[in-house]
Amino acid sequence: MKKVQGSLYFSLILMTWIPLVGFAIIILGFSARTLKASMEEEVEEALRNLGISIMETYETAYPGDYRINQDGHVLKGDYALYDDYSLIDHIKEETGVEVSLLYGNTRMLTTIRNQDNERIGGTLVSDVVVEHVLDGGEAFFSNELSIFDEKYYGCYLPLVNSDDSVVGMLFVGKQQKEVNGKVAHVINQIIAIGFIALILAAVFSVCFTKSIITSINRMMEFLRKVASGDLSARQDERLIARNDEIGEMGRLALTVQRSLRQLIEKDGLTDLYNRRSGEGRLRELEKNAKESDDTFSVALGDIDFFKKFNDDYGHECGDVVLKKVAECFQQHFQKCDGYSIRWGGEEFLLVFIGLHRDQALLETEKILTSIQNMRVTYGEKVVSVTMTFGVAEHKKDETIERLVKRADDSLYKGKALGRNQITLG
Ligand code: GH3
Ligand code: MG
Ligand code: MG
Repeated sequence: MKKVQGSLYFSLILMTWIPLVGFAIIILGFSARTLKASMEEEVEEALRNLGISIMETYETAYPGDYRINQDGHVLKGDYALYDDYSLIDHIKEETGVEVSLLYGNTRMLTTIRNQDNERIGGTLVSDVVVEHVLDGGEAFFSNELSIFDEKYYGCYLPLVNSDDSVVGMLFVGKQQKEVNGKVAHVINQIIAIGFIALILAAVFSVCFTKSIITSINRMMEFLRKVASGDLSARQDERLIARNDEIGEMGRLALTVQRSLRQLIEKDGLTDLYNRRSGEGRLRELEKNAKESDDTFSVALGDIDFFKKFNDDYGHECGDVVLKKVAECFQQHFQKCDGYSIRWGGEEFLLVFIGLHRDQALLETEKILTSIQNMRVTYGEKVVSVTMTFGVAEHKKDETIERLVKRADDSLYKGKALGRNQITLG
């Protein structure tokens, strides 16, 4: 088989791959965004809840307002919060969340440490946070907080005293890289699964495309042979067996080949082999006979007084008779190995494969009897014809022309002897 992968192959592959890869990129982008957004929502919710529960813990453990003493240290009620890191350190240890307690906008207690591993107490928060939490009294969440060059997801909650005044803030925050690391991990998993799915889809698309292209190439190979005149070229069985449009095209191509062969090989009126294809077949027999001891015989037959028959009953009636005579031959060759050829006008050549002259004579006698007994109804009329045959057996190394000439000579002897008979050549 010639070229299997032509431009159609690549077009089909691209047609499946481009949407596939595009679809994968869109899905990936969309799921990454959705994942990040929902992760952020979850982080915000978790930080807020954690902040509230820290404040509740302080409230339960140390009732009273937040205040600052003359040394600038934070107290809750009478309890000196400023040197008690146990709660916030414990939370950091358990959850990995940084916690800071701010009085006003200053970090008083914090788990966050600088590069020298010192707590960053005493530092200030940004104006935006002050504006929202201290001034506005509302919680503030940001996914873009920057503390000592470290990015945080952080939540600031207002610390409210019994007189409803906002005196400070509680900060709970998680480093962005931790959250992003989790998102990246999930996205990597999605990418890995997507990649495997993509590979599977790609393999499937390549196999499917190859199967289509291979079938199309098989059909092209067949059509190429038919186009170059090989009307006996065989169509690939696997193509015909396909249960789809390509299989149907293969079957149609085969039908076209058969119709062409019918048109070229058969005579339009009688459906017998025409002289041209008949001669071709005889040459095959001649070739076989040359290479083996096989023999064959022929009988050249001619309808008697057919010109007069046409004159008496009309040309159309003559055509009907020619068809009936041909049917009679074909019926006979269903029982006997051979075939009949419309040799010319009302002349037919019967070919008896494997039969010697006397055996061919016997078969021709049966055929002549059938012709004699044949009654053809045409309109109101019932007509009949007779034929004269000349029989000859192929001699070793004899040409077809010579063989038919001998049969023709016998036929004319029969005509001269009064017709409606068989003469041996
Ligand atoms: P003979 O017994 O000597 O063969 O006499 P004949 O009249 O049959 O022979 P001749 O060769 O004089 O005439 C043959 C006739 O066959 C003439 C022609 O009109 C007729 N014929 C040939 N082909 C066809 C055909 O296709 N249809 C019809 N209806 N007649 C045909
Ligand atoms: Mg004739
Ligand atoms: Mg005749």
